[in-house]
Amino acid sequence: MRTIVVATQNAGKVTEIKKMLEDLDVEVKTMDEAGIDLEIEETGTTFEENAIIKAEALKAHTDAIILADDSGLEIDHFGKEPGVYSARYLGKDTPYTVKNQIILDRLQDVPKEQRTARFVCVMAVAAKDITTITTRGTIEGYIGYEARGTNGFGYDPIFFVEAYNTSTADMCSDLKNAISHRGEALRQMKERLKGILEVSK
Ligand code: IMP
Repeated sequence: MRTIVVATQNAGKVTEIKKMLEDLDVEVKTMDEAGIDLEIEETGTTFEENAIIKAEALKAHTDAIILADDSGLEIDHFGKEPGVYSARYLGKDTPYTVKNQIILDRLQDVPKEQRTARFVCVMAVAAKDITTITTRGTIEGYIGYEARGTNGFGYDPIFFVEAYNTSTADMCSDLKNAISHRGEALRQMKERLKGILEVSK
């Protein structure tokens, strides 16, 4: 059975990925579980570059398949910022309640049709014996007029989805995973992984 190491320190992401890949013939491990202790600098300017940088950085440390992701929020009115800088935007250690309020204030007089935004997630898979591949998922929405909801993390309270008329922080995790950028990228990657696992049997 092959092992997949998830290149993230975020336990929540690993739990989600484990759950989604549970019917594949693979063992999903965290970097900790795989005995890999590595700080990877995200020096790319696109989600694809960063996901590949993270996945390929681990290649020298393991024979396993490595799965990495990079994600962020694009706000059209800000020229698609914060984009790949989403985690660092307005200060790496600034609480999201503060960051989200600053964004709401900056968009105060902006009409709804100009508040469009999307979450993007790119997944990359790398291993010593395969060519690195990526998949991309997006969810379209808009920045609301006030923060709403207590689920999720990051920019979820201000990211509203038209079809549900509420924010992704106001959704249960099953619904968010079903429609989210991360869920979509991972579903696509799962199909690609099935092919890789078949070949490397
Ligand atoms: P990374 O992919 O772990 O580098 O995270 C990128 C950043 O994008 C996060 O720290 C959040 O600020 C933001 N982000 C990515 N996906 C989501 C999401 O589903 N909800 C809220 N914020 C997100």
